[in-house]
Amino acid sequence: MAINLKSFHFNIQTKILLMGLFLGSALIFVFSILVVNDIQNKVDKVYTDFAQSITKAIAINISNTDISQINPEYFSAFINNNDEISYLEFKDKDNNTLYSSKNYYPQKEQNTILNISSQVMDNNELKGSVTVGLTGNGIKKISLVTKKTLTFIFITTWLILTLLLLLNFLLMSKELRKLYKGVKQISTGKFGYMLESESIPELTDAFNDMSNLLSQYEEENIEQLTLERNKLEAILMSIINGVIVCDNFDNVVLSNSAALHMLDIEEKDFINTKIQNFIDSHGQKCFLEKIEEFKDTPLNIIEQKPVEFNIEAGKRTIKAMISPMFSKQQDYVGYIIVLIDITRETEVNKLKNTFISNVSHELRTPVTVLRTYTDTLCNNGDDFDEDTKKEFLKTLDKEAKRLHTMVNDILDFSRLESGNVCLKKEYANINELIEQNIMSIKILADEKQMNIIFNPKDELPLVPINIESMDRVIRNLLSNAIKYSNDGQDIIVKTGCSDDKQNLWFSIKDNGIGIAKEHLDKIFDRFYRVENSTHTIKGTGLGLHLVKMTVEKHHNGKITVESTENEGSTFTVYLPLIIDENELI
Ligand code: ADP
Repeated sequence: MAINLKSFHFNIQTKILLMGLFLGSALIFVFSILVVNDIQNKVDKVYTDFAQSITKAIAINISNTDISQINPEYFSAFINNNDEISYLEFKDKDNNTLYSSKNYYPQKEQNTILNISSQVMDNNELKGSVTVGLTGNGIKKISLVTKKTLTFIFITTWLILTLLLLLNFLLMSKELRKLYKGVKQISTGKFGYMLESESIPELTDAFNDMSNLLSQYEEENIEQLTLERNKLEAILMSIINGVIVCDNFDNVVLSNSAALHMLDIEEKDFINTKIQNFIDSHGQKCFLEKIEEFKDTPLNIIEQKPVEFNIEAGKRTIKAMISPMFSKQQDYVGYIIVLIDITRETEVNKLKNTFISNVSHELRTPVTVLRTYTDTLCNNGDDFDEDTKKEFLKTLDKEAKRLHTMVNDILDFSRLESGNVCLKKEYANINELIEQNIMSIKILADEKQMNIIFNPKDELPLVPINIESMDRVIRNLLSNAIKYSNDGQDIIVKTGCSDDKQNLWFSIKDNGIGIAKEHLDKIFDRFYRVENSTHTIKGTGLGLHLVKMTVEKHHNGKITVESTENEGSTFTVYLPLIIDENELI
């Protein structure tokens, strides 16, 4: 790792190091100066004492000789051979110079650093004086040696101190760098990172323990988070409604499989794309406008009332709701689009509307006939003969019955649809019931020159049924067979018993217009009519729904249909022969 020069210069460790160096150096420096000064002072004092002693010794030496008879050559030789003495001077008591070596060695005199005078006495009588000049060469040498020695000691001590401090600094900063690297690794999430260092084992151990613990916590946390995420994902994926999550920039960040299925798009083509770019089956960017509307609406309003709209995707109608999404801190982070498949509801709604129009249409005819005929009979009844009046009354009866059947159908529909109806059953002869219905409906068949062919078998067992509702089933199937056949096309009715004697069945086969394949699984739905588009044959779309409900829900039986367009249809009803005794009257 490269050393960060900036931190090298200014970090606290460097500052302490520099301060230590500076203080250490200053201390050694001051101490050295003090020591040198002290030694110098002492040497100076010793030297002065030494000079005084020499001067006194010379004064004593010449005290009993005639001072005026001093031999200049002798002293000149002495001066010349002595390095320490720069000059020598003798004066008489009147201060007249008797001898001065300055006259002989003026050069040497220039090196004088100390002048010491002493009186020359002879038996307490002053004879003159002697002055000695000293060069101080000795102490100069001592001072030089002392200074050199001390400088050496100072530099050596300073170097050792600096070296030690530097070593410590390098060692510490190496450890700190390792620690810094470790902390950096931890801060980037690499828990479990281990330091390798023997210099500061306590610190290394503490760091490694911490890293280990963090790694354990992380593992536990990740496990927990993964678990939570999987749970959430499972919930999201199992929701039957579609869920699309978009971020703040309209990118699709999440979509469950229901949403992908509804929009008929692959995950890879949808995730991370702008939601506005989605194109529906009509080639429209169906989200574009609504997302703009959502964004233009203030959040407090949109929170209460999400933006709702319908999308047409293939044959489906999908209701979409956009609501804002907030983080835990209540920051807006995007939006969620919930998709609900309302194809069925839309269809039922359409059918309901058609049903209402059909029923109104159906009711209007008999009501008009009833009103006109009663009106005519009331106002002009006397003008008609008995036969005409009977004919009028027959028509009135027929229309009243038709009205009655229709109203009954509607009432039965709502009664049976409510679910909590228990139809009590009794054992009945199905052949007889069918025959009765054929008789009552024959008039309709005759109108279309149709025969209803029924050859009942005698040996059929009695079947537990609710006679009234089974009556309506047979009537409905027979009237449909007549209604959806052309003139002269016969109807064949059959009955029978299953081989295992568990079920009894009857079938009504016509040779009429038949039912196209795509309608076959829907004809039992409430309000469903194949003729809706054409309106050629009147009806409400309730009959087969009631038949199915009566047979399957209330009799635990089964109804099937086989049909070929333009060839005819066969409806077969299966009824169980054994039922719970509680269901019997
Ligand atoms: P409605 O007869 O009042 O229209 P139904 O529930 O009895 O209502 O019948 C539903 C639809 O099934 C009818 O609209 C018709 O198209 C079709 N259907 C029923 N019976 C037959 C049949 N025997 N032959 C052909 N189509 C039939």
